[in-house]
Amino acid sequence: MRSLPDRGTVAITVDDAPMPDTMPAMLDLLERFGAKATFFMSGCRAVLAPELVAQTVRRGHAVYAHGWDHVRLDRESPRRLTDDMERCETLLARYRPTPSPYLVRLPYNGGWRSARVHRTLARWRPGCAVVHWGPSTEDHMISTRCAAVADVEPECRREVERLMADPRLPGGIVLMHDQPINDRPGAEFKPAVTITLLRLLLEALAARGLKSVVLPPPAPPVWWRRMVLT
Ligand SMILES: [Zn+2]
Repeated sequence: MRSLPDRGTVAITVDDAPMPDTMPAMLDLLERFGAKATFFMSGCRAVLAPELVAQTVRRGHAVYAHGWDHVRLDRESPRRLTDDMERCETLLARYRPTPSPYLVRLPYNGGWRSARVHRTLARWRPGCAVVHWGPSTEDHMISTRCAAVADVEPECRREVERLMADPRLPGGIVLMHDQPINDRPGAEFKPAVTITLLRLLLEALAARGLKSVVLPPPAPPVWWRRMVLT
């Protein structure tokens, strides 16, 4: 899945959530703008902040597994991949029923073009779809360009302005992170980047009249639609 059928909408997708110093502010921002988002949560973070998983669900956002460990699961054995995803989903399932069909984004978007990974995932959750994105906030790089807190807002604004000019934005799936998991420099600026970026993004989307919605379930495969419609 790469885009939405309704070009008046945008789906903000947030990987690597939830972090206790940013998620409460993100949820408040989304509520203030009447926006909904889709969170691909990392089990290793969610287990440390279960109340935030519950709150995300309560406030009407969609929650899916982004794996337990943030590693290249596509390079692991099929068993390791599904065990890791299942461990994360088991945790999330304490807070909402497991969605069916399921939406998947693996760490580093690993294996999104790999037939082997798609087959493995289809065995894990039949009918599941790998969610790619159109415009990316490139927020995994923003903190690396900050030397002081004062740099955060202009750096975030630059990326949001670039996004607003992206022709894929209407009906687009937008990628961002809750403090991206990486070893890049500028880690101390990550919380401020995450919150500032989301605020500027929501302001800009509202100014454009684009509504932020949760990702819809994947369309059924063509053979299934034919069977039902004929
Ligand atoms: Zn990730």
